Order: sequence, then structure tokens, then C-alpha cells
Amino acid sequence: MNLAAAVRAYLDDGTLPDLPVDHFIDGAFVAPAAGERLETFDPGLARPFLAVAAGTAEDVDRAVSAAQKAQRAWGRTKASERGAILMRAAMLLRAEAARFAFAESLDSGKPLQEAEGDVAGAARAFEYYAGAADKIEGETFPIGEAYLGYSVPEPVGVTAHIIPWNYPISTAARGVAPALAAGCTVVAKPAETTPLTMLMLAELLVRAGLPAGVCNVVAGTGPATGAPLVADPRVRHVTFTGSVPTGQGVMQAAARNVASVVLELGGKSPLIVLKDADLDAAADGVIGAIYENAGQICSAGSRLVVERAVHAALLGRVLERVRTLTIGHGLRRTTLGPLNSEAHLARVTAKVEAAKARGLTPLVGGAATADPETGAGWFFEATIFDDADAGDPLVQDEIFGPVLAVQVAEDTAHAAALANGTPYALVAGIYTRDFAAAHTLARDLDAGQVFINEYFAGGIEVPFGGNRQSGFGREKGFAAVRNYLRVKSVAARIG
Ligand code: NAD
Repeated sequence: MNLAAAVRAYLDDGTLPDLPVDHFIDGAFVAPAAGERLETFDPGLARPFLAVAAGTAEDVDRAVSAAQKAQRAWGRTKASERGAILMRAAMLLRAEAARFAFAESLDSGKPLQEAEGDVAGAARAFEYYAGAADKIEGETFPIGEAYLGYSVPEPVGVTAHIIPWNYPISTAARGVAPALAAGCTVVAKPAETTPLTMLMLAELLVRAGLPAGVCNVVAGTGPATGAPLVADPRVRHVTFTGSVPTGQGVMQAAARNVASVVLELGGKSPLIVLKDADLDAAADGVIGAIYENAGQICSAGSRLVVERAVHAALLGRVLERVRTLTIGHGLRRTTLGPLNSEAHLARVTAKVEAAKARGLTPLVGGAATADPETGAGWFFEATIFDDADAGDPLVQDEIFGPVLAVQVAEDTAHAAALANGTPYALVAGIYTRDFAAAHTLARDLDAGQVFINEYFAGGIEVPFGGNRQSGFGREKGFAAVRNYLRVKSVAARIG
């Protein structure tokens, strides 16, 4: 695909490239059993552009049956062959990156360059887990000379993947790739507002050599498709990313079948800046942490915890950078794209309006807006509330938009206390030149992952996940492969 030409054609007269509109079940695109479809919207223009299959329990049943049927052969496929298929998928994804980035940007609203980064990251995930497939090993146990004791890691079976709308292809890849590497089959349900790239990925996997039925996708709403999927007793593991209440419901449904879950439920993550930090690097970090994907990131740095001595100097630098952000349609490679849906824009707006009603005034931003070029779209201004109280909802509640709450700390210990003072514990960032302070904070912060001197540092190699309300279990890294394995121990008398 010529990406620039495709973008021009779409923005000029709505011309679309070939995009999937059906479920992907048992190796082929399949129309929804009940014939229902759901419009998917371009958030940058606030208008629908495609009607995609809206699944029902019948579609879910077909997909789980296909996965169940494919499980035995896939689980027994030589590990190096599974790895080779995943490696071919990584190569195909790189070759077709433009097509995937276009679909991701259009469906989610995110700026095209961010979507390109997400697709590159997804290819990297397939490459990483391709290499992991033939390094899944058992152990031997020293149970005496007359015995042989060993363990065999086995795939858990059919796995369900419930995918959110903020990072569709990234979240899909970090769940699906390790599941396939471990020998599990997959039924994925993308979010109702962003179904395209998961459907495209399943089709690409078949071209990479994945047998029919190993990776299936049912598009549709949470209640109509997600709920029957996670309640299906043939599903042995659920990987879920999304909101806390939905995650709690998914865990309850899985519990009825005694299936395992990994829950990634968002956060209210702190970015701490100590007084000796490189303030330009820290200001760049703050901007990326809260305005990438318009703040719709589970691991967004949505709280800036800054030492009083550098509070004014840092905020000056942050505000300078906020003024350079460009609002507009993501396909035009702007730097602040729209929010993903009208409903989500309403949620973010309500939280900011409630703060204003409590007497708080944003330092900058604070309102819904539109693409200045078209007057359309679901945009929200880059917003900062300074010196927020530790108990204020701006500090305690996930907003999932471009809204930063600043908290002022008196010293490092106070910064740690403020940082740990929410129900969430996903990630945390630290900016300082003091080696000991950095690692003391890394020890004392309640978070699944800590970034030092570069927010979002790391890659697919580094385990990721939260504590407390942010969920449990880890994705990424080799840790993710273990989500999809169970251990069989064998003890034999041989003498
Ligand atoms: P959600 O939790 O309702 O949706 C996430 C996914 O779960 C979607 O695919 C959805 O279809 C599915 N789902 C919904 N109900 C289900 C059910 N009963 N059974 C199985 N699957 C179900 O989130 P949302 O409504 O799209 O967004 C609301 C809030 O969730 C956001 O404001 C944000 O705080 C949070 N969120 C977090 C993340 C994250 O990365 N942690 C991602 C998206 C949204």
C-alpha cells in the first residue's frame, strides 16, 4: 500500500482500502450468524466509515469449537515449527505495516506515526515469542537414584483474549504471540470500536502458515460476544485488558469454570521529578507520558509528582511543549489526536467539569474541542491541573484522557508517599541524577514496572502488569509465556 496516497484518498473523498468486515473463524472470514453489524467510527471526523460483524453467542460457539478442534494438533506441533510461523508473521507484519497502521489510526483515532510505532512493536512481539517457542523447557527433580522425576510444560488449551480500544494491535500481539508460542489456540474479541487490526492479524497469521482454527476472532460488543466467550467452559485461560468493573466480571465468569486470568486494568501512574533531575528530559518525558494517544494509555503518567524546588521551572518547560502540540485528524500525523468515541469524550469531559465545579481551574486546556481544519471530531485539549490535593478525584480516579494532575512534594520520601497514594499500582517514572535516590524509590514504589530517566523505557523483553486495582499477572517478557502453560510432573520408579 502507498500510505500517503491512501491517506489522501480517504481524507479527500472517503475512499477506503480493502478492510475486513466479518469474523475470522477456522481460517476464513465468516459473516455473523445473526446477520448483525455494528458501525465503526472515524473519531477524527466523528462519523462512521464501515459496518463490521457484531457477534452473538452462536459466533462465539463456532469460534471456540474451531479452537478446541485445532488445539491437540497445534499443541503437539514441533516447537521450532511454531516459532517459524510466528517469525514469518513478524516479517509479513513488517512488510504490510502501512496497511495495518492506516487501519489502526483510522479506527482508534491515534496519530499515524503512533500507529506505525504500534505495528512495529507488534511485529517485534511476534519475533520475540518466535524465539521463545523452542526454549520452553521442563525440569528434572532429584528424587533418588531409583527414580526419575521431571516436568513437562503443556499448553493450557483454548485461550480467550479480550482486547481494548486504546492499543488494539499492541495488546493483541502481546497476548496472542506468547499463547501461540506456548501451543495454545486463541479466540480474540477486539473492542467494539476498534475491530479492524485484530481481524487483519488473524488473516495474516494464516498466510504465515498458522493452521485454520488456531487463531479466531469474533467482533462485537462486550455483553453479546465477550461475555459468552469468557463464560465458555472450554476456555482455559482469559487475558483481559480494560476497565476495573469489566475485569472483575470477567474474573467471576472465569472462576465459575476454574479458568485462569490475567487482568490488566489501567492505572493512575506517577511520574516523579526530583530536584536534581535534567528538567528538559523530564519535561519531554511528561509530554510523552500523558499526551501520547491523547492520554488513553493504561500506563499513562497521569500524575506529575515534582519536588517543590523545581516545580515552577519544570512546569514552565512542560507548558512550552504543550503549546507545540498539534490537534487534528490522526491520519494527518498530528500530535494530539481525538479520543476514541463520543461516549469516552463525554466521560473525560464530565471528570474535568466536575473538577471545575469543585473550584479547580486548569492551568491550560480543560475543554472538548474539534479539529481546527474540519470543525469535526472528538477531541479534548491538553489539560493540566496544578497542585492537586492528594485526595482529589483528579489524583485518585483514572481519567484516560489528556489530563495531567500535578502534585508537589517536599522531599523524596514525600514524593514516594504521594506516588503510592492511589488504589492503582501499574507503573511509575522517576527522573533524577541521583543513583541511590532512583533505586531507593524503585524499591519503595508500589508498581509493576518502574522507568528511570525515560518514561516508557523498555520493550517486549520487559514484563509488564499491575498490582492492586491495576490487576495481576504479567504480560510481555518470558513471564507471559508462563500464563499459557501448565506443569505436568512425572515421577517414575526406574530401579
Ligand atoms: P471495557 O472494560 O468495558 O472494555 C474493554 C474490553 O472488554 C472491550 O473489548 C469490551 O468489549 C470488553 N467487554 C465489555 N464487557 C464485557 C463482558 N461482560 N465480558 C467480556 N468482555 C467485555 O472498557 P471501555 O468501556 O471500553 O472503557 C472504559 C474505561 O476502561 C476507560 O475509561 C478506561 O478507564 C478503561 N480502559 C482501560 C484500558 C487499559 O488499557 N487498561 C483500556 C481501555 C479502557
